[in-house]
Amino acid sequence: MRTLPIYIAPVAAETVSGYIGRIAQTHCLEVGEIRRMLIREAGRSTWSENDPRIALALVRLCGLPDDAFEVSFEDHGMWTRCGHPRWKPQKCPRCRTLAEPRTACVECAGGLATTTRARTGPLCLSHSRWTLRELTVKIPVGASASRTEETLRGPLWERGIALHTGEYNLAAAAVLAWSQGSDGATFLEERAQRLGLPAPTTFEEVMLCGYPEVVKVVEVAMSPRILRGVLQVSRSALPQIDGFANVIANTLGVTVNERLHDWAGAVIGHAHRAVLHAAGLRRTTSAKNALCPQDRALIVASGTQRACLLRHVSPRILDGLMRGHTEGTSRLSVTRRHPLEPDELALP
Ligand SMILES: [Zn+2]
Ligand SMILES: [Zn+2]
Repeated sequence: MRTLPIYIAPVAAETVSGYIGRIAQTHCLEVGEIRRMLIREAGRSTWSENDPRIALALVRLCGLPDDAFEVSFEDHGMWTRCGHPRWKPQKCPRCRTLAEPRTACVECAGGLATTTRARTGPLCLSHSRWTLRELTVKIPVGASASRTEETLRGPLWERGIALHTGEYNLAAAAVLAWSQGSDGATFLEERAQRLGLPAPTTFEEVMLCGYPEVVKVVEVAMSPRILRGVLQVSRSALPQIDGFANVIANTLGVTVNERLHDWAGAVIGHAHRAVLHAAGLRRTTSAKNALCPQDRALIVASGTQRACLLRHVSPRILDGLMRGHTEGTSRLSVTRRHPLEPDELALP
């Protein structure tokens, strides 16, 4: 196989399919043509993005070092709660989980579209470019935005939180609820106006116009310390709802309005039902009597009930609960692979 004439440097943790899209565009080739070449070279009969032989054929085709598409787990790995053997967030050498692919900074990628699994947020600090899904825009990066990006890549990443795990979607819904329930224009609308955008309504738009605030809500209001106090199902829910709404409002430096309070009520109600569900989970679908270990029950319930808050509380929250039978858990391998979907009350 000959090497393609135009050299393109891969971006950090770039996906194989993203890179193929870029070489196809630069060489005026079809993606299908390149794939067929790689399939032949790798000795396969069908396409598989994850086959190391495909990656090897690709580096040969492009004249890159052999490990060009091996994403460093050291640099980009996710903290997960997989039970190998503990359920605390950890960088598990067996699962070697990476973030889900997402759109990369177009300037890092030489003006072409691609995807990456890097340990980063939406803000490229070298190019001051914001990229989240389809929304990409050049923005002035102040100290607060770059600090926010560092928080996402640092302490929040190490709590197992990334752009695909759902917490930011939930926090964005909180910020939007407060903003829509306020009289007059809020910081969200003002910043949108400055960027020449309509009032934010989607996840991407709220993240762009309220990035420091959304990340702050995840950092503070979804911390184990706060959640311990608002997910107590054996106590009255009302003070806990007030407490959760207050923490969010304080984090934003605003006062609670009706819309935010209603939103907090719905989220806490849903999380309480999920905690009760966790408390009643059995060890397997066939074992009717043996309770599931508490830390595993919380992770299973956070996935099946779509309640990301449960991933951030201590299993002690289940101590001493009345345990009505809910369901049995699936095998561990299924639990580990359960796709992380944002909560129903979050912005999709
Ligand atoms: Zn693991
Ligand atoms: Zn960039």
